[in-house]
Amino acid sequence: MKQCDYIFQMQRLSVNDGEGIRTTIFFKGCNLRCKWCANPESWSFTPQIMFFSHKCSSCGHCLNICPSHANELTDKNKIIFHSDICISCNACIDVCSAKARQTMGRNFSFTEVMTEIKKDMIFYEQSGGGVTFSGGEPLLHPDYIEKLLVYCQQLGISTAVESCGFFNFSQCRHLIEQFDMIFFDIKIMNDDLHINYTGQSNKKILQNIAQATQLNPNIIIRVPLINNINTDIANFEKLTYFMKKNKLNKIELLPYHSLGYEKMLSLGKSANKYTPPSTDTFLIKWEPHTRDFSRELGDQTSQYV
Ligand code: SF4
Ligand code: SF4
Repeated sequence: MKQCDYIFQMQRLSVNDGEGIRTTIFFKGCNLRCKWCANPESWSFTPQIMFFSHKCSSCGHCLNICPSHANELTDKNKIIFHSDICISCNACIDVCSAKARQTMGRNFSFTEVMTEIKKDMIFYEQSGGGVTFSGGEPLLHPDYIEKLLVYCQQLGISTAVESCGFFNFSQCRHLIEQFDMIFFDIKIMNDDLHINYTGQSNKKILQNIAQATQLNPNIIIRVPLINNINTDIANFEKLTYFMKKNKLNKIELLPYHSLGYEKMLSLGKSANKYTPPSTDTFLIKWEPHTRDFSRELGDQTSQYV
């Protein structure tokens, strides 16, 4: 079935998604379910409602208008949002004067996206920035991205993609060749743990990344650091071996942050809070090893951010 190309955010003046100042386009839809995900509003391929309880005044307008009875008023005058029965009709958005509700995801036309992208041409030129496709998993939208990619190239705008690596490689081969920069996440090297924490095997991901190295030399591996889950030496030894074997020599380590936890609650889902490794502990644990890994991978290893 043809997948819709919903976008849930277009973030201008972004500085964490590649070189320089960028516009980052966030696509909906991902096949992984990382327990620490920073963007769980991206998981579903279709629009979703987020309910921000701290803004809610308990006026009750959403109770009356909802055709699914997805909102409940408790004895303590609090609204509970039952996302599992919400049909995303958006009726409650209009009646909520407190702006406690928001729809994540809409079908932006190609022209709308390009208009947004073109607003910051001057910043791209001055800073060496450009456009980054993110998500969710942007490479699950190859046709839409191809159109944007071609237009960006015509305008001389640099392009990057942030991918979890779980996509159909044959559908994306021509895109992989053309991005100016590719960021691939590798969460955990042990496959059993990967399945446990992300819901999918890492085999296809590692295979896709290995294949991508044959087509594009500008690849950076990113690892979200989750304390006591993927911060052990064994994980990084396996990662180093994989990177060396595939001639990858750039890595960024991203500490976990709890933004995703708050978003999960707003989506009406339960969630666990994780922790990043403390900087001191991490560096003490890693200091004797980073030199070895640097020697293995080359001079550009280990950008601690
Ligand atoms: S979007 Fe969901 S919660 Fe809001 S009125 Fe429609 S069904 Fe009810
Ligand atoms: S309409 Fe908005 S402010 Fe009123 S009860 Fe519903 S969510 Fe809360």
